[in-house]
Amino acid sequence: MKSLQQLLTECETLAFDLNFTRAKKWKAEDKSRILVGYLPIYIPREIIHAANGMAVGIMGAGDRKQIIKGDAYYQSYICHFPRGIIEMALDTNLEEFDGFLFPAICDCVRNLSGMFKLSKKGKFQRYFDYPQNFDPFIGGTFYTQEMEKVIDDMFKINGVKVTAEGINKAIKLYNINRQLIEKIYNIRDERPWQLSAVDMYHILRAGLTITVEEHNEILEQVLHHIKEERGEPMDNIRVVISGSFCEQPPIGLIKSIEMAGCYIVEDDFMLGSRWIQGDIKDNTSNPLEALGNAYIHQSTFSSAYYDVGNPKGKRLVDLARKRKADGVIFCAASFCDPALLDRPEMQKECDHAGLPHINFQFHENTGQFKVIKEQAGTFSDSIKLWA
Ligand code: SF4
Repeated sequence: MKSLQQLLTECETLAFDLNFTRAKKWKAEDKSRILVGYLPIYIPREIIHAANGMAVGIMGAGDRKQIIKGDAYYQSYICHFPRGIIEMALDTNLEEFDGFLFPAICDCVRNLSGMFKLSKKGKFQRYFDYPQNFDPFIGGTFYTQEMEKVIDDMFKINGVKVTAEGINKAIKLYNINRQLIEKIYNIRDERPWQLSAVDMYHILRAGLTITVEEHNEILEQVLHHIKEERGEPMDNIRVVISGSFCEQPPIGLIKSIEMAGCYIVEDDFMLGSRWIQGDIKDNTSNPLEALGNAYIHQSTFSSAYYDVGNPKGKRLVDLARKRKADGVIFCAASFCDPALLDRPEMQKECDHAGLPHINFQFHENTGQFKVIKEQAGTFSDSIKLWA
């Protein structure tokens, strides 16, 4: 078994390898293997696993890549994320990827799918839509058809037939993955000083670049290490971070919030890995239906999710209560339409529940955190002194 420090170092390296070396090495070992890149937030990775593929999460270039060509593709006022992605695609970072999935989260990502198509990146480029009708017969059928299109795309590349048995096996593996992640979040909920939010971030992001089997092993070992008491509790407040579901905040920003006296006990950084709440049925003759039902009945909330009859503001407050949070930090990418449009409603719900909140915006390549640290520090002090 590796030491915790070895695991954390490995995860940090994997998380920010913009060349996806490990995934490409995995593909090179067997001719029938394929790599399917996907953008935030969520896609049903199980169907890719069943097609002998690896779903690779592409979470942005952050501050690790200079944007030159990407700026020519997007207006200067929109978020940074798609510019970094197109820069990676026009360079060599995403070579050897067989296909790309663009979840329907906003217009920027929709346009990105068109740019990949026009630039002929990968053998397929699919805009992956989600049901907005939550009747399983209507929305579920629609979702199944969307998944079938992707299965067909993959079959044309490697000729691997996706079977019910293969999807059930993948569902089992991802169920274990979600359970392990939740167990670590629950330990951090009880004793947040045992593992920093930055370490947790690296562990989850690493999982998007390796096989689910390998990630499960890492999670098992991390869990083993943090079950024992370690570290010392500090006089910090407990916060929930909301709004960072797509463009990812720089690590320095997460660190600054922690150093300013806040334990981040819940977040939406790598939300796709935790999208489905609870297990998905893994022994059915129609696993696509099981995946569809899970999306309809077991999805978490996010600004990129249509939430008729199940308002996000209320779900955010419920989550904050569950994690015994003292406050909410709304932390969204600058000009992220979905997050910023939802924010007033969510803030109103927090006010109604008496939950203090602050907000700021970032770019994935922001390099200055002094102001954010001061703001988070003042938030923490004011709660400790007067809440
Ligand atoms: S950060 Fe927001 S606006 Fe930008 S691509 Fe993601 S969801 Fe769209």
